[in-house]
Amino acid sequence: MQQWQERDLKHIWHPCSQMKDYEELPPIVIDHGRGVYLYDMEGKEYIDIVSSWWCNLLGHCNPKINEAMKQQMELLEHVIFANFTHQPAIRLCEELIRILPSGLTRFNFSDNGSAAVECALKMAFQYQYQTGHPERTRFMCLTEGYHGETIGALSVGSMDLYAKIYRPMLMDTLHIPAPDCYRCPYGKCRDSCHCECFAGAEEMFAAHGGETCAVIVEPLLQGSAGMRIYPPLYLKKLRQLCDSYGILLIADEIATGFGRTGKMFAFDHAGVSPDIMCISKGLTGGYIPMAITVTTENIYQAFYADYNEGKAFMHSHTYSGNPLGCAAALAVQKILREDRILEKAEARAPYLHGRLMEALGSHPHVGEIRHLGLINAIELVEDRESKQGFAGERRMGYQIYQRALKRGLLLRPLGNVLYFNPPLVIEENEMDAAVERCAAAVGEILPE
Ligand SMILES: *Cc1c(COP(=O)(O)O)cnc(C)c1O
Repeated sequence: MQQWQERDLKHIWHPCSQMKDYEELPPIVIDHGRGVYLYDMEGKEYIDIVSSWWCNLLGHCNPKINEAMKQQMELLEHVIFANFTHQPAIRLCEELIRILPSGLTRFNFSDNGSAAVECALKMAFQYQYQTGHPERTRFMCLTEGYHGETIGALSVGSMDLYAKIYRPMLMDTLHIPAPDCYRCPYGKCRDSCHCECFAGAEEMFAAHGGETCAVIVEPLLQGSAGMRIYPPLYLKKLRQLCDSYGILLIADEIATGFGRTGKMFAFDHAGVSPDIMCISKGLTGGYIPMAITVTTENIYQAFYADYNEGKAFMHSHTYSGNPLGCAAALAVQKILREDRILEKAEARAPYLHGRLMEALGSHPHVGEIRHLGLINAIELVEDRESKQGFAGERRMGYQIYQRALKRGLLLRPLGNVLYFNPPLVIEENEMDAAVERCAAAVGEILPE
């Protein structure tokens, strides 16, 4: 394996990494995967508890998805999607309409989450422009939000870690203070509050509502910020507020879609629909990069006109509607439905949370273990009373990550937050093993 690691480091610039760290922790060469497990070249197993950056929905090398892709590959690998179409794309849209929040019926394909966000922003901007509101040029977002790392997506993101250096390149967006339930400034608790913090959104709308075209949110779960969870009531209120100001609501369900939060989409918890929704990560089960920006008939119609009116949405990506991606996504939908994956995941979710609470719930450096669906986030703190986080320089999460890898658990943390976001098919014995390895790794770095 070492030889391959050396060859890798000669050429490859890995994503979101300080490459110097690789001197100490060289890249692990994965040979194959099966279910929730990954295996390196020496045969060592790792439980993929982060679903390989949250996209693996149904396990690695899922036989049914493999089969669907092989069949598609023999027919057609790709075709230009302007003026051409194919059965897998058509069937996929028809399937997704059945599970999406109501009113979302028009599909614009792209090939990664950031691209879907860029598409949503441009679509919202042009919609306002073409419906008599050229003055609506700004976007609102939540602080600590994350929507990807291309320039537009970074502009509506709010995490310094990704955006700070590039600020001079970015759009001037409006940042609404996000709900912070663990450190609630109103002293409320997550399940019984009235979203007192929504006052921040009301103030922002009152001050800038007239110049804003859309607000974008990660519904219920601010993932990259450390799996921060907030109540569905916030989304309901936001829907009403957007309606009263004529502002579009964009749901970034790239991380939350396809059962991650316990329901098919996070917006389902709130019982309302966004105007535009971005989906990607779980869409193809983690097989092929694919994303869709879905919108309403109303928005679609604002672009529908004679060619010379110049109202078309002039936006494209080479790999839009890739047939292999559609075939994988269709297979994912079939499995979710036929194998009743969401119901089974929901039934197992309390078990995972219970095991984590037993193992780490009373640890003096665990502030809280919050959960939504199968997602569990363990927030590490200096001290439970003050909720003070460890200083970033101590790289507490990263140290635990290294120990967990040794024990066979892929637990890539977000700062001081360790989290589980496993494939939905994870079994109880696999949960047991993951919790045990995680607790042991925490114990090595932070003894009780
Ligand atoms: C991952 C993610 C993105 C970006 O998707 P990429 O495919 O990595 O570009 C955007 N928004 C959210 C909420 C995400 O989790």
